[in-house]
Amino acid sequence: MASQQVSGTGTKRSVRTKINPYEMLLQQLDLVREQTDIPAGTWEILRRAERALEVSLPITRDDGEVEVFTGYRVQYSSARGPCKGGIRYHPAVTLDEVKALAGWMTWKCAVVNIPYGGGKGGIICDPTRLSERELERLTRRYTAMIFPLIGTMRDIPAPDVNTNSAVMNWIVDTAGLLHGEPVPGIVTGKSIELGGALGRREATGRGVMVVTLGVLQRLGIDITKARIAVQGFGNVGSIAAELLAKQGAKIVGLSDVSGAYYCPTGFPVDEVLRYTATSPGHLLAGYSARGVEEITNDELLTLDVDVLVPAALEAQIVTENAKDVRAKVVIEGANGPTTPEADLILAEKDVVVVPDILANAGGVVCSYFEWVQNVQCFPWEEEETNQRLGRVMQRSVDEVWKLAKERNVSLRLAAFILAVERVAQAIRLRGIFP
Ligand code: NAD
Repeated sequence: MASQQVSGTGTKRSVRTKINPYEMLLQQLDLVREQTDIPAGTWEILRRAERALEVSLPITRDDGEVEVFTGYRVQYSSARGPCKGGIRYHPAVTLDEVKALAGWMTWKCAVVNIPYGGGKGGIICDPTRLSERELERLTRRYTAMIFPLIGTMRDIPAPDVNTNSAVMNWIVDTAGLLHGEPVPGIVTGKSIELGGALGRREATGRGVMVVTLGVLQRLGIDITKARIAVQGFGNVGSIAAELLAKQGAKIVGLSDVSGAYYCPTGFPVDEVLRYTATSPGHLLAGYSARGVEEITNDELLTLDVDVLVPAALEAQIVTENAKDVRAKVVIEGANGPTTPEADLILAEKDVVVVPDILANAGGVVCSYFEWVQNVQCFPWEEEETNQRLGRVMQRSVDEVWKLAKERNVSLRLAAFILAVERVAQAIRLRGIFP
């Protein structure tokens, strides 16, 4: 199982899929190792999570029965700063998955050079089977059990699959009660009223937009002439489509779980957003306008466009469809949308792939800004967040692009090299205790 993976590093070397995500992380590290001269001992440190906690979580169900769940919190690396990473509620959570996700958070924070290490947490549960009160009890019990590990300067959770601001609000409340004083910086992704950052909702899509502009400019593609298809019209995809359209791009393809649509003259994205604001399930189903035709979800991925933004799920560009991808550039808004085999096929076709750890890092950068505001007790205007986010993302594109050219490697491999070398350097500078 390789769900939510960050996909392969784009070298001409075969990498297995359908593997344990932690094995996948190790394979990626091996590819980076060939490109660096990091000492063997440091590699051993980089290949392991610093700390992993398994917790048992009894809760009283609404019917009075006790049920016991299992949860995890993993701190992969604190070499560059406090650990940072989301909490996932899903039946398929495993310790190895949480370890891998914590490792990928380490590289993501390092590639955009924010002063964090990487962490991740999860509870094995099916949240659709739990009432809101049960979810609250489970979250509060989990917070109490991982409390020895988390902290404003230690390890800062955030939302991930099936968790949201309500879950973060319960965590910040429980942690504050256990601590004896409010600890707003112990978790990000909170409601604005509790210290959440203005601009967080849009941050990942905004980062996707900034990265797309930076890459198109370097490729000599004029944004006002660019044709773009976006898979997934959720948080990341809809904001990315809206902001790219505002930059003058033509959004010619849009899709969500309900279907896909093609509009050769470019969608009026504002109008589509107004439609999904009130449509059943906030889905595109039923949207119609002049010049818009329905296509299949598969066709969307192979449209004749300049840019394809997969912003839905992992493993969407796979061996079977990669050869048919006609986009010049793929911007990975989602985590792991391209399988390692598909990545090799795209590389052979000279498709420029901007990897997830760079393309969708806007979310964690904004989480970092939320934490900075909490620590300083000084909330920012939304404009300030957006400007700073833009600068961090532009600088990160610059650095990854430059390294890719210098070493003659893909953007994916360059992003991994940059990130892993930064973590290795922090480990070297700290030295080994005792
Ligand atoms: P979301 O649930 O808001 O949106 C997902 C969208 O994908 C929905 O529109 C859904 O209908 C659509 N979708 C699902 N299956 C589909 C299919 N088969 N074909 C086409 N569309 C399909 O989720 P999100 O927060 O936008 O996250 C999307 C991806 O981005 C995930 O991989 C997530 O891990 C990643 N990501 C999100 C953030 C963030 O801040 N939200 C940050 C980093 C990475």
